[in-house]
Amino acid sequence: MKSDTEVVIIGGGAAGVAAGRRLHDAGVDCLIVEARDRLGGRAFTATHAGYAIDHGCGWLHSAGKNEWSKIAQAQGREIDKTPPPWTRSSLGFRLNEQQDYREAFSRFDERVHALARADKDVAVAAALEPDGRWNGLIGAVVTFINGAEVAEVSARDYDNYEDDEVNWRVVEGYGATVARHGEGVPVALGAPVRRIDRSGKRLKIETGNGAITADRVIVTLPTTVMAEMETLFSPALPEKIEAARNLPLGLDDKLFIVLDKAEEFEKDSRLFGAKDDSKTAAYHIRPFGRPMIEGFFGGSNARDLEAAGEGAFFDFAVTELCGILGHDFAKRLKPIHIHRWAADPFARGAYSYAVPGKADSRAVLAAPVDNRLFFAGEACSKHDYSTAHGAYRTGVSAAEQVIAARKK
Ligand SMILES: Cc1cc2nc3c(=O)[nH]c(=O)nc-3n(C[C@H](O)[C@H](O)[C@H](O)COP(=O)(O)OP(=O)(O)OC[C@H]3O[C@@H](n4cnc5c(N)ncnc54)[C@H](O)[C@@H]3O)c2cc1C
Repeated sequence: MKSDTEVVIIGGGAAGVAAGRRLHDAGVDCLIVEARDRLGGRAFTATHAGYAIDHGCGWLHSAGKNEWSKIAQAQGREIDKTPPPWTRSSLGFRLNEQQDYREAFSRFDERVHALARADKDVAVAAALEPDGRWNGLIGAVVTFINGAEVAEVSARDYDNYEDDEVNWRVVEGYGATVARHGEGVPVALGAPVRRIDRSGKRLKIETGNGAITADRVIVTLPTTVMAEMETLFSPALPEKIEAARNLPLGLDDKLFIVLDKAEEFEKDSRLFGAKDDSKTAAYHIRPFGRPMIEGFFGGSNARDLEAAGEGAFFDFAVTELCGILGHDFAKRLKPIHIHRWAADPFARGAYSYAVPGKADSRAVLAAPVDNRLFFAGEACSKHDYSTAHGAYRTGVSAAEQVIAARKK
């Protein structure tokens, strides 16, 4: 590993890769220092039976404006533009009920929007209709969007999120696209950063694989990881650790299941395991037309299942699916794999949300320090947080800040 460079980028996820690519292409001597043995972070494509499977980000949200859409196309990848299952009708859910549920969700969103304008920021739970028929399902969907429960999520932050509702997928994998974008940028893998000593004229970055001196650093650590590293900065930067704590990663996990006789179902269809309980999963059936089901588990449900062990997700899915599709359906299912994101020591969750009253922490986290410490990562984005394109934009922005700082 190089022991001296101009700019160290801590973390090789979507933000770190974007920052590294921008700096390297601008001729700046830089090094991505990554704890894992791969690039991509929460963008992670594995393969099963020749199919690319995204355990982390899968959807190119705001796809028309999403930089990763263009990058994937430039890499020669196939973009699938089938409308996502959540915009279409769900199986086992009567059409008039679905309409009723969608209207209830729209009213919930409108109330969150109104709450976000109040003097005091509160949890989105305040936007639920008292005893509303669809509160359970709205609660479940909030866990899919934020990884946290309605009582935990800031209304102001939720309302800040922007989405043009165009959602595409990369057939060969979103994670593979992000990792490929980093090819050619100098990288040190398997080097977990433990401390950034900023007491001297130059910065000293201590890793599990030796120390590196640098003039500037871009920190892209996931917030929950950073929140656990009180001594990351020396001298300490308590406002950064506090901001990271105010923006914890919620939890969402995906379980992929092989489905026998899959053709019985329409391609890219879906169902909810339950319609009246926030502890339910959403099942995407035949994603890309493949003989599979992608189960999506969020919030406290995902946390409880992670704690109960890998098999608990499959058991839960089988119970829910058989409840709707009949007892014999179990015979057609075989689990593939789940990546447990909370148990992952270099993620500790899926994506960030702001706790009530702390939406402004995103700006605090993103602010540079002394013109030599810069910050990026999805949690730094005010409007695109929680996404891979949000991470990309903060990475490029941090790289631009570094380039501007060098000229001073
Ligand atoms: C289940 C799931 C589904 C998702 N679905 C979508 C989706 O459909 N669309 C979408 O846009 N987004 C989605 N996301 C979110 C998206 O994946 C993330 O927002 C994005 O990838 C975050 O990028 P990042 O660079 O900010 O962070 P990360 O990808 O977490 O990058 C941080 C990097 O830092 C590394 N690191 C950690 N600790 C250390 C250390 N001590 N030293 C050095 N390196 C360290 C990590 O290994 C990682 O590579 C999903 C995420 C999950 C988990």
